[in-house]
Amino acid sequence: MAKPLGLLRHCVRSLQKVQLVSGQNHGQLGQQHVRCASSLIDLPETHELLRKTCRDFADNELIPVAAQLDRDHMFPKEQVRQMGELGLMCMDVPESDGGTGLDYLAYAIAMEEISRGCASTGCIMSVNNSLYLGPILKNATAAQKEKFMTPFLSGEQVGCFALSEPGNGSDAGAASTTAQLQSGQWVLNGTKAWITNGYEAGATVVFATTDKSKKHKGISAFLVPKPMEGLSLGKKEDKLGINATSTCYLIFEDCAIPEDYLLGQPGMGFKIAMQTLDAGRIGIAAQGLGIAQAALDCAVDYALKRNSFGVPIAKMQTVQMKIADMETRLESARLLTWKAAMLKDAGRNFTKEAAMAKLAASETATFNAHNAIQILGGMGFVKDMPAERHYRDARITEIYEGTSDIQRIVIATNIFKEHGC
Ligand SMILES: Cc1cc2nc3c(=O)[nH]c(=O)nc-3n(C[C@H](O)[C@H](O)[C@H](O)COP(=O)(O)OP(=O)(O)OC[C@H]3O[C@@H](n4cnc5c(N)ncnc54)[C@H](O)[C@@H]3O)c2cc1C
Repeated sequence: MAKPLGLLRHCVRSLQKVQLVSGQNHGQLGQQHVRCASSLIDLPETHELLRKTCRDFADNELIPVAAQLDRDHMFPKEQVRQMGELGLMCMDVPESDGGTGLDYLAYAIAMEEISRGCASTGCIMSVNNSLYLGPILKNATAAQKEKFMTPFLSGEQVGCFALSEPGNGSDAGAASTTAQLQSGQWVLNGTKAWITNGYEAGATVVFATTDKSKKHKGISAFLVPKPMEGLSLGKKEDKLGINATSTCYLIFEDCAIPEDYLLGQPGMGFKIAMQTLDAGRIGIAAQGLGIAQAALDCAVDYALKRNSFGVPIAKMQTVQMKIADMETRLESARLLTWKAAMLKDAGRNFTKEAAMAKLAASETATFNAHNAIQILGGMGFVKDMPAERHYRDARITEIYEGTSDIQRIVIATNIFKEHGC
């Protein structure tokens, strides 16, 4: 069984001490801790230590290879294995289940730092932590956890999450993939689209309709090991960014799985998917922060070194205005992301805040990456510098796990709900 090593183990211990002081259960930050973190001046010591660990890992192991991984469309197998050793592939899985046992604020901080180093690696980390392990942790039986969770904690194996279909992405309730119970087996038919980690994953969470008459309340969730008879993969999508991740169709043709691979109860699938995406959006927000920070760092570094009209361009007010806007938007989005994570850790509703965090952070990633290229001028447009990769990688954060339009709908719906409508 995977055991998180080194500094992260120390983080778990000190987080547990904080939880003891505030009388909270494992995996949930107490009010005292929430108040302390929400002073918004410093992170708790635990989280600072985690941030430094992840920052060092990104500087030493990800930044030096990120351009090559992108160019070669190469899955970062060795880096993911190392992240598994650090406990980064199962961050909020309790220690009693073999995980790292940290909270969601810790996950957001780690995701930002890893994505600052390599957005593709951040994406792989996010799918395994929140989209694959998340619903399993919450809904699986002990036997299902043994088979579908334990081997996915160490970074040796990754999972995937198959909700979208060629005909419906935003409208996830319109799933046309079906699952029928026949002679004690669920038989799956249909096609899932855009599945991240599709090529490498050792198993997938899949959503399929078990009772069409009930519409979205007739969708159920299943666990399917890979490879599996009746499950084939489409071609690897040729993407704009996050090129070190694989994205493909999962095609189910009379794919028979045991009856007890149903996750949760029949008809609970849509609810499981929406709860998973609520939490997942905090991870994508953090991925956006990482890309936005990388773009800002690149722009500041260049502005200090590049001379024009006899002075560094950092002295030009037009450059200063851009840098100021980039930093302000980044810090605002970071506070929203941490707030959403802290609400989740406190066991409070965080749907609206997660959507706001994802909306703000993903649009900031695009904004910062765009402005970084502008500050670099011609050098922003070539692959010798990372700015163009940040620009390409940023764009997906406004699309997956709900487009920006969908986040706005979630935010507005929740506001009206708060007003009793
Ligand atoms: C690289 C990549 C990785 C992905 N990984 C995964 C994965 O691992 N698992 C998975 O299940 N899915 C994954 N997806 C799918 C992703 O979540 C969907 O692409 C996304 O939800 C949008 O769905 P769509 O592409 O079908 O767009 P559509 O739903 O067709 O939307 C098209 C446009 O219409 C707008 N729109 C749609 N409905 C509304 C509305 N009600 N109001 C206002 N505007 C609306 C959208 O905002 C968008 O601008 C991935 C996608 C990509 C590109």
